[in-house]
Amino acid sequence: MNWDNRFLNQEVNAFLEIDCQQLKLVERYQGVLTQGAQSFADVFYQYLFKFPATSKMLAEYSRKGGDLDRLNQKQVSHLFSLMTHQNDPAYLERLKHIGEVHYERNIDPVWILGAYRLYQNHIHAIIHDSAEVQPLDRGPLADCLNKLLFRDMGLMLEGYWYAATHSLQDEKNKVDDLQRQISDLLTNIPQLIWSIDVINNKPIYISPTVEEISPLSMKLPIPCLAWTVKCDRPKVEAAWTRALKGEKAEVESRVHAPEGKLRWFKRTFHPFIDASGNVVRIDGIMEEITETKLARNRLERMATTDSLTGLANRALWFDHIKQSIAVARREAGKQVVVMLLDLNHFKYINDTLGHPAGDLVLRQVSNRLQGVLRDGDTLARLGGDEFALLLPMVNDARAAAIKVAQKIQACFREPYMFGGNELYLGVAIGITRYPDNGQDADTLVRCADMAMYTCKRANAAYQFYQTGLDEPYRKQIHLVSNIKKALRQNEFELHYQPKVILSNGQTNGLEALIRWHHPEQGRLLPNEFIPVAEQMGLMKELTEWVIATALRQNKAWLVSGINTTVAVNVSARSFQDHHFVRSVKNALEMADVSADCLELEITENTLMSNIDFAADIIRSLSDIGVKVAIDDFGTGYSSLAYLKRLPIDQLKIDKSFVKNMDRDDNDAAIVRSVIDLGHNLGFKVVAEGVERPQPMQMLKNLGCDIAQGYHISRPMPTVATTSWLSQAG
Ligand code: C2E
Ligand code: CA
Ligand code: CA
Repeated sequence: MNWDNRFLNQEVNAFLEIDCQQLKLVERYQGVLTQGAQSFADVFYQYLFKFPATSKMLAEYSRKGGDLDRLNQKQVSHLFSLMTHQNDPAYLERLKHIGEVHYERNIDPVWILGAYRLYQNHIHAIIHDSAEVQPLDRGPLADCLNKLLFRDMGLMLEGYWYAATHSLQDEKNKVDDLQRQISDLLTNIPQLIWSIDVINNKPIYISPTVEEISPLSMKLPIPCLAWTVKCDRPKVEAAWTRALKGEKAEVESRVHAPEGKLRWFKRTFHPFIDASGNVVRIDGIMEEITETKLARNRLERMATTDSLTGLANRALWFDHIKQSIAVARREAGKQVVVMLLDLNHFKYINDTLGHPAGDLVLRQVSNRLQGVLRDGDTLARLGGDEFALLLPMVNDARAAAIKVAQKIQACFREPYMFGGNELYLGVAIGITRYPDNGQDADTLVRCADMAMYTCKRANAAYQFYQTGLDEPYRKQIHLVSNIKKALRQNEFELHYQPKVILSNGQTNGLEALIRWHHPEQGRLLPNEFIPVAEQMGLMKELTEWVIATALRQNKAWLVSGINTTVAVNVSARSFQDHHFVRSVKNALEMADVSADCLELEITENTLMSNIDFAADIIRSLSDIGVKVAIDDFGTGYSSLAYLKRLPIDQLKIDKSFVKNMDRDDNDAAIVRSVIDLGHNLGFKVVAEGVERPQPMQMLKNLGCDIAQGYHISRPMPTVATTSWLSQAG
């Protein structure tokens, strides 16, 4: 602060009625008044040391390095100045400073004023006692010095007050700065943050972002509740109630944004509990999750719907079956109907008119079937020409199923159309019911499958599952249900069948084929257990075992200097498992071999039953360096357009065409066109089932790349395979 000393001199002096006459009087007696200044200072300090509070201050001053002697000197000069420099600006400035120092040293005003009393006593004693002071001057002199003392005190306290307000202002500035930073931060982050005093239902803090979410009122206590979509409000309120009980709660809901759009928000309520255990405050965050939500929905839709028809896929259909069983279990008398539908003659359409025709027909079938549904029923496409239906919560399952089955059959009475062609299709329907035929989804679906096959064989309109229907499969089911135990007991073995390059006779690689040494039933071939294991969903462990064993063997061959690749057959279910690629990766790492040691064979039917999904997996496998071969080619209904786009390494012509190709012109023509087609698409072509020299020679002439079959070698156990490889090398 700039002290206006002129102002001080004029205004303050005038206010205190300090006049020139009196000042002159002080000047005249200066010598007398300053006598004994030193002894006064000594008495002054003695006095201060007598009191605990003041003596503590002086001790503190000295402890912090203050010099008490210098302080004493200052006291003397202060007294001196008081009598001599009343109007000296430097002196007035120093007074201010003394005030500031007292504030900084924590010396309260009461002690300062108290000390001034000592000055006053001292001065009055001089005026009163000194013979040098004229008796008539004593009154005015005392009066003037009193006024000067008051002015001195006033100025000093002003310095004190000034320092105090300044330091307060500094603190306040710091707090303001901090608050500004926090507020900037909270404005900058998109999340809305707030804190509500729930005892008085008053906001403690709400970040300014609230304006962007819901510009009108905040509607306490739950932010933006009024803007939340009506049917979402109860769950938001329920979450709030949980928070009031002391539980952290999260809730997602839709909010009407100012632009009229709907946005998804997640609110998180954090209750604050005081020492006595009461929730006194709820702090919250509200953040937009529209993007994530949309992405999640998209993914969910992709994972649960069939891309061709938009119907539910197998996974979703299974989920719905499980849910409806759970509901029916709780409600007495309620039943669930599960139906499997398999189209007849569909393969014919695909083969003769091509894949686009097949796709179009499948979509038409899906549309017609949807017409027979009620709300709440689930129609699904499981892959290929397999559809499925679920009727949840029916009272008379048998009657309902018959009614629906008849309506389904009616959908196939009229022809389907493609390019002016009338196409007649049929459908086989297998039906199971909860709770009569099974207690869980797997059992119900397996039984429906059985019923569907029976229906197909009998050429019936529909077939209910009945006990005994599975009699022919019973033995196999029993067998397969022990696969896990058999794995633990090491009952499986791999045989290897070589594939040779036709142009030079060298071994191209091996195909691993599984054998089961059953303790009671002896050696079992894969066809005796794999199809049932596949149907019962038991292939995962077996496939993992085959891959691990084949790779371990490959590593052993590598270590002994033999470089080869092994092909492993992968069944549809294993291949369609979401974790399949990861498990292949793990197996490669575990065996410590590179990915190009492994080839996976999937059948054409596996590929085509869910082409989009299969395509993704093939691409991921190719990304990690694993080769893929299409097995049993020619038996399914592949679309070339699809194959062309996939990173496939080999096409294996099914053995049924190769075996007798030298005797059957049709077979020979098929083999020839597959070889040409495969080469056009850049694939290597393998012929399997070469049993005699004639087909082998024909294949060579046709330019087929690789051959496999009994004529070359039967599948062999490991030891025999090792000597085959050593001889070949
Ligand atoms: P695939 O993949 O088509 O395998 C070829 C089958 O043909 C093998 O039968 C093989 O022994 C047999 N074979 C080889 N050369 C000839 C020949 O010249 N003439 C004839 N008539 N047959 C020949 P296998 O070992 O009984 O396997 C049958 C099927 O079981 C395989 O057909 C494959 O689909 C499946 N399979 C075998 N091992 C596994 C496995 O580890 N996992 C899976 N998922 N399936 C497997
Ligand atoms: Ca194979
Ligand atoms: Ca095959």
